[in-house]
Parts: sequence; C-alpha cells; structure tokens
Amino acid sequence: MKLDTRAMRYLTAEDWRVLTAVEMGSKNHELVPTTLIEKIARLKGGASGVHKSISNLAKVGLIARMKEAKYDGYRLSYGGLDYLALHTHASRKNVYSVGSRIGVGKESDIMIVADDKGTQKVLKIHRLGRISFRTVKTNRDYLKNRQSGSWMYLSRLAAIKEYAFMQALREEGFPVPEPIAQSRHTILMTLIDAPPMRQISSVPDPAALYAELISLILRLAKHGLIHGDFNEFNILIREDKIEPETENDDTDPDTDPNTNEQQQEDDDSTTPSTTLTPILIDFPQMVSMDHQNAEMYFDRDVECVKRFFSRRFHFTSTEPGPFFKDAKKTVGRDGVRRLDAVVEASGFTKKMAKDLEAALREQQANAKNEASDSDDAEDESEEEEEDEDEDADEGHQVIGDQIVTAGEGLEKLAINDGT
Ligand code: ADP
Ligand code: MG
Repeated sequence: MKLDTRAMRYLTAEDWRVLTAVEMGSKNHELVPTTLIEKIARLKGGASGVHKSISNLAKVGLIARMKEAKYDGYRLSYGGLDYLALHTHASRKNVYSVGSRIGVGKESDIMIVADDKGTQKVLKIHRLGRISFRTVKTNRDYLKNRQSGSWMYLSRLAAIKEYAFMQALREEGFPVPEPIAQSRHTILMTLIDAPPMRQISSVPDPAALYAELISLILRLAKHGLIHGDFNEFNILIREDKIEPETENDDTDPDTDPNTNEQQQEDDDSTTPSTTLTPILIDFPQMVSMDHQNAEMYFDRDVECVKRFFSRRFHFTSTEPGPFFKDAKKTVGRDGVRRLDAVVEASGFTKKMAKDLEAALREQQANAKNEASDSDDAEDESEEEEEDEDEDADEGHQVIGDQIVTAGEGLEKLAINDGT
C-alpha cells in the first residue's frame, strides 16, 4: 500500500470531520454504522451533509462500505488512517509537504517529507497486520472478536513502541535518528544522510567497523536491550570526515598558517580522512535482555553481523562471541539506565508488547512463506531498485496549490481543516 496524497487537497472541512468520526467510531465497532457517524460528526448540514462526505471519502478510498449480515457500515482504510496522521503532523507544523517514498518493507512505508522551512524528514508509516486476501476468510472471526487482531491497533502499537525506543536510545546517546513526533501508525524522525550497510561494497577497515557494531550490540545489552533485527538494512553507515590533528599541539601562534597547511597536504598522516559511523534504525521488534528468547535474539543479531562481514567484506573476526551469558552479566552494570524498563514505564504495557510480538511473528512467517514461494533473498536489492525507479516516475504528487521550492520533489500538503 502506497501513500497517495493526491486527494488530500480536495477534502472539505466536513469531510475531515466525517473521516475523524469514522476513526472514532471504529474504536468500538468493526463496522461503523452511518447513524453513529452522523452522531459523532454532528455536522451543521445534518444527515445529508454527512452522506455527501461519506460518499466523497468512499470515492477516494479513505473509507470503505462493508455489508454484514446484521447491518451495513463503514470502515477506515489504510489510506484514511494515513490522511488522519498526516493531518495531525501538518497541524502541529511538523510536516508541510510530502515527497517520494525511499523505502518499502513488508511492514512499513518510508516517505521523505519536509516542514515549511524545507527541512527534510522521514515519515515511517507502519503497516502491520495486513492479512492477504487468501487468508481473510479464516481470519475473519479472529479479527472481529479481538481488538488485538486489528491492523489499526497493531500498526499503532508498532509506531508507539518504535517511537518510545528511539526516544530512550537517543537520550542515552545511542546513534539513532532523532524522533520528532508520533501520530497513530506513523512516526516522524530526522533524515539520516547515509546509505544502509547493504549498499556498501567495501570499507577501508572492516575490522574497525565490525568492532564498532559488536560494541553497539554489547552497549544495548548493558542497557537491557536486544535490537532483534540487527541486519545490513537497519544499520546506516555515515561517512564522517575527521580533521587531522596538527603534529605539534601547542602551535606557535606566530607560525604562518599557510605554511602549516602546505605541510599538512604534503604529509600523508595528516590528510583529512573519514570515519564510518553506524546509525541504528528500525525498533519495533526490540526485546528486553530478560525476554524468554533473549539468547536466541542476541545470538541472531551477532550472527547477522558476522555473516554479512564474511560475505561482503571477507572479514572474519579471530575473537569468538560475544556470548549472551557474558552480556547478560553486564545488564545495568555501572549504574546504566535499563531502557527496557524505561519504555515499559512510558506506557507501552506488557499486553501491548505481547500483541505486537505475536503480530510481528505472524508477519515474518508470512513473509518467509512468500519469499520461498517466489525467489531467493539475494534478489532483494534488485527488487528494491525497481521500486525506486517506479517511485521516481510517480514521485510528484501535486496536492496543493503552492509548491515548496526548498527541498526538491516535495509537494505542498493541502491542509484543509476548516479553520
Ligand atoms: P522496515 O521496518 O520496513 O524495515 P526501516 O525503519 O528499517 O523499515 O526503514 C526501511 C529503509 O528506509 C531503511 O533500510 C533505510 O534505507 C530507510 N530509512 C528508514 N529510516 C530512515 C532515516 N531516518 N533516514 C534515512 N533513511 C531511512
Ligand atoms: Mg528495516
């Protein structure tokens, strides 16, 4: 499902009210009856105004009419929820325009957006619990009876959890994007100008980068956490220039600076070099070091790094491990904050964690089945490139009457909230 903002500029204030009413109604109703929508929206125009908006919204696919044995009603689509979230980000002045999609996973869409100053940011839209049409029938009762099975609830959980972890990690000084805002199933964060490790074909010093990544895993563990998906797509590699230090620290202020520069250029050891900084992303599946399967997740993260370094950089560490039992001993040591506890205290309850975990597991199992049905994993990068091409063609969605000039490829979001 791709975010399509084209219809946004045509929505009236009444349409937004009705869309919000459908969202509110769906908290207690799988299908929201028209009478309930009328009651919540309380439009001045009365029932006929509501019907007009309902038909507008249905036409552009933001809500869908469903027929059930007992009654007819409407449900919010992913598109409808996307619009509501964007509307919230926009009214908080966090998002002004929407650009192209830079990433698409099984569980999310990653969009470039910008605020009214043209500062680019990343909007991650969680798309969880999408069940394929083949299995809709068998999942129907489950969906109907359990709120924990609904895509809206699960996607929101993923966003809440990811946002809470990003905040906690950032506060603790971990290299992660800065979380800006969260609404419904979306989170807004800073754009990291760095490619995923997957796209890096060689590095000057594989051993150093490997050590850095392993120490990141151990640092997380010390804070009580396991990333749970520590792979080459979720580690962005930023190239930072390091300015050379002059050989003589207490430089004579009388020394001609030009002479100094000349010397530096001539001297290999002092030419500016770069250092690679890994930035971690993607946190919905993070688990506590106390999780019952913690060892399996920990080992899998470590193994992932080892396998990638061996295949891509032909590097194998001479040091065995690190091992879970050793990492476990370091949890909370030296008075460090346990971030697993921090996140739980932020309101992400055990029940929420359980619901989300079950959904992620199901989703991963589905993904595996689909992958084994079609092609092998090595084709993934090609698929991604195709996706990017497709986006380049469709990238410009004109949705507003004023196009932002700063930040190429971004179009104004028409916010029509009736004010
Ligand atoms: P998923 O859960 O679908 O794997 P990710 O959060 O891992 O979603 O994001 C998918 C891809 O989008 C990443 O591999 C990366 O290329 C890109 N991406 C995500 N967040 C950012 C960001 N803040 N800055 C730059 N690129 C990002
Ligand atoms: Mg990812």
